Amino acid sequence: MAKLTFQLYGSPLEVEAPLPTGTITAAEFLPLVHAVVSAVVARSAERVEAGIGGSPGKPITCAKGCAACCKRQPVPTALPEAEALRALVDRQPTARREELRARFEEAARRVEEAGLGPRMRMEIASTPEQARVAVQEYMQLELVCPFLENESCSIYEDRPMACRMYLVTSPASLCTDPLGQPVEVLSMPLRPITALMAALEELGFSPQHTVPLTLAVPWADAHREAAEQQYSAELLLKTWLKHLSRRIAPGAAGAG
Ligand code: SF4
Repeated sequence: MAKLTFQLYGSPLEVEAPLPTGTITAAEFLPLVHAVVSAVVARSAERVEAGIGGSPGKPITCAKGCAACCKRQPVPTALPEAEALRALVDRQPTARREELRARFEEAARRVEEAGLGPRMRMEIASTPEQARVAVQEYMQLELVCPFLENESCSIYEDRPMACRMYLVTSPASLCTDPLGQPVEVLSMPLRPITALMAALEELGFSPQHTVPLTLAVPWADAHREAAEQQYSAELLLKTWLKHLSRRIAPGAAGAG
């Protein structure tokens, strides 16, 4: 285990995370990233619930059984996460694996049919306007996450970073139309997904982009060689931390 210390909002945030060693794939780096994300999300939620800068506290309205954000919304998924999900699906018993794969194939077919495939690949440099227009069209397809079962996440411990970081303080009913309704999404002080993509780009695995989670498994299937690329764990950690520290929201501080 490694102990990482982040200076966030004027106080240290210590995170115990599994430290990868030797040579690893980017997917094998995710447990460390997830530990950091969980700690950062918890700190951000505490601050909002307690009230910030004189503003009254606001409760987080996300709750088990509310799966509004698992339906319609494109959950941005980076290739290492897609590869981790592919491996998770392929570890399932045959019937479950086939069911999940059929859901992914159906989602991919519908996205391609709508001509949205290339436009849903969000690169680091995608502009907010490009993203907004593509997301609007994607949401009209009303695709449901293949891992959603009875309004609950069936892979909660393994869910991607975007799922971990999406918390709201507005009424849950607004989340069915996040572009048209005043949904209050908790702003996060760090951008770990973008930092990971930037780190992988720097280490020669480029260009990086995300796809919606509904397309993740077929995407990982089609990019096995890239997903299996090996990195020095130490170098990947250093490079990720460097890019993470460059992506800190104003008002928060650096990573150490
Ligand atoms: S992985 Fe889980 S939390 Fe994320 S969108 Fe799918 S069902 Fe929802």
